[in-house]
Amino acid sequence: MPVTSLSPSRASDFMRCPLLYRYRAIDRFAEAPSAAAMRGTLVHAALEALFDLEPRERTPAAAQGLVPASYQKLRDRDGRVDQLFADGTLTEEAFLGGARDLIDSYFTLEDPSRLAPEARELLVEAQLEDGPLLRGYIDRLDVAPADGALRIVDYKTGKLPAPRYQSEVFFQLRFYSLVIWLARGQMPEAVKLIYLGNRQILGAVPTSRELDTVRLRISVIWDQIQAMIQAQDFPPVKGPLCGWCSFQDQCPLFGGQVPSFPNGSGGVTQG
Ligand code: SF4
Repeated sequence: MPVTSLSPSRASDFMRCPLLYRYRAIDRFAEAPSAAAMRGTLVHAALEALFDLEPRERTPAAAQGLVPASYQKLRDRDGRVDQLFADGTLTEEAFLGGARDLIDSYFTLEDPSRLAPEARELLVEAQLEDGPLLRGYIDRLDVAPADGALRIVDYKTGKLPAPRYQSEVFFQLRFYSLVIWLARGQMPEAVKLIYLGNRQILGAVPTSRELDTVRLRISVIWDQIQAMIQAQDFPPVKGPLCGWCSFQDQCPLFGGQVPSFPNGSGGVTQG
C-alpha cells in the first residue's frame, strides 16, 4: 500500500530507527499489547468522556465513575486487552488501579470544571506542498473565549523525560502546532503537555520560526523515506529504546532477518 501521510509518532520512529519506521508504517506488523499503552488508551478515553459532563459535574469521583464503561469499550474494541493478564504477572485490578491513579493525578494539574474545550480527540490534517499529508490526533483543543487563541493540550500517561531526552517531545509538539497552523491558518498560542505519570506540565509557546524549521525537517525526513522506499532499504539504528522494540526478531542488529520489502509500497499511506 503506498505511503502518503506522516504523523508525529511515525516521524519520531523514523528519526529513531528507519527499520522501526518501516515495520510500523509500511509493513504494519502487529505488535504485542503493552500494559502501559493500553492503560494510556483507557485514561485518555475516560478524560475525553469527562468533558461530556456539565462543568460542575467534572469531579474526581465522576471521572473515576467513567472508568468501568471506558474499560468495557476498550475490551470490546481490542481483544488484546485480556492478553495482558494471561500469564498472571499483571492482574486486572492492578491495571485498573494504575489507570485510576493517573486520573487522580489529572485533578492535581487542572480543574476541568473551568474549561470548555472546542474539541477532543481531534483529527488534524494538512497537506505539505511537495510532501506528505501531515496528520495526527490532538487530545484536546482549547479556544480562549476572549480572543480565540488556540491551545493544544496533550495528555501523557508516562513521566516527563529528563531535559536531555526532551528534543523528541518538542519536535512532536511543534509538529502538531504546524498542522493546526496549516489547517486553520492560525498559529496555536500555546501547547501544554500534561504528564500524569509524575504530575508535571510542560508548556511551550510555538513561534513561526520554529514551525518553519520543523516544516523543513519534515521535508527532509520525507525525502529520506522516499529514497529508502526506492532502494527498499531501511537501515536499523541501535539506540537506548531497542530494549523495548517489538521487532528484535526481525532486526539484523539482534541476529534477526529482515523480511522482503512488501510490494506496492512505492508511495507512502498512514505514517
Ligand atoms: S531493535 Fe532493531 S529495529 Fe528495533 S529499534 Fe533497535 S535497531 Fe531498530
